[in-house]
Amino acid sequence: MLKQFLTRRFYFLSVVFVLPLTGEFFQTQRHDGQVTNVEINADSLKTEYVFVLVIDGPRMSETFDDTSFQYIPNLARIIAPQGVLVNNFRNNGPTYTNAGHTAITTGVYQSINNGGFELPKNPSMFQYFLKSNNFDSTKAWVIASKGKLDILANTKNKNWKDKYTPSAYCGTNGSGFGYTSDKYTWRDAQVILKEYHPKLTLLNLLEVDSKGHQADWNGYLQGIRNTDQTALELWNFIQSDSIYKDKTTLFITNDHGRHLNGKKNGFVNHGCNCEGCRRIYLVALGPDFKTNTIIENEYEQLDISKTIAYMLHFDFPSSEGEIMYDLFK
Ligand SMILES: [Zn+2]
Ligand SMILES: [Zn+2]
Repeated sequence: MLKQFLTRRFYFLSVVFVLPLTGEFFQTQRHDGQVTNVEINADSLKTEYVFVLVIDGPRMSETFDDTSFQYIPNLARIIAPQGVLVNNFRNNGPTYTNAGHTAITTGVYQSINNGGFELPKNPSMFQYFLKSNNFDSTKAWVIASKGKLDILANTKNKNWKDKYTPSAYCGTNGSGFGYTSDKYTWRDAQVILKEYHPKLTLLNLLEVDSKGHQADWNGYLQGIRNTDQTALELWNFIQSDSIYKDKTTLFITNDHGRHLNGKKNGFVNHGCNCEGCRRIYLVALGPDFKTNTIIENEYEQLDISKTIAYMLHFDFPSSEGEIMYDLFK
């Protein structure tokens, strides 16, 4: 199945358009209400590989707002201290799975069919990255428990459709259909990572969201614990791999939260404007980021891929996000 995907999605590129982001950047930050000039030299960054782990649909009340951290012991006590926690991180667009993931990968909020029947309007960070480096499709991957997320590997933008597309392994046996257990997704992801060592990878885990929709409170909490464990296994995998070690940045975030208690059916669903749906977390760690730091400035999903573009030295003009300079050492 993997081989079929590679054949289907393999593109050799003959034209290189490189728009290097080099030299010094002087950026005005929006977030603290003050005008601050920051100077960061992108050339000095150590990151060569980036992962975005999307844990699908936990609420902050069961993650970082529960200061006992009983359901996220690894994230809160082992992972976040090695990096940065963005405490006011938001999905400011539609709070559904495909829309949240699309905001992360394209840097633009849009309403999009949530069943996997519609491609994003805009090209993704994967496409800009592969194009700017003249890389083949094995250098960027979308790996997801939810088959419908294979839409993240393409766009309906005419200039980009079917071009520079990343590899995708989503849903049942990577087929782009169905939902599969996170256990199998993580197992198969490790095979892919060892074989190809992709430079830019998004990984989606579904258990929290699935159990929530089943109105299974204990299952929902167990899903948060299980994905917390997988997050640690991913970071340990990265740091014990000779190629990835100390050259890899990991973003851990959510596509959306869930309704606050008292709002509609509470934890069972999501999709509205309530703070439970909007406010999520971002934990980010790697060789270029601060450690043991909590950032209170507000950032949002759009800012992840813009920051990645900066770190991996590619231009991303269609993104509406901003570089999160606050995260850097
Ligand atoms: Zn979701
Ligand atoms: Zn809500």
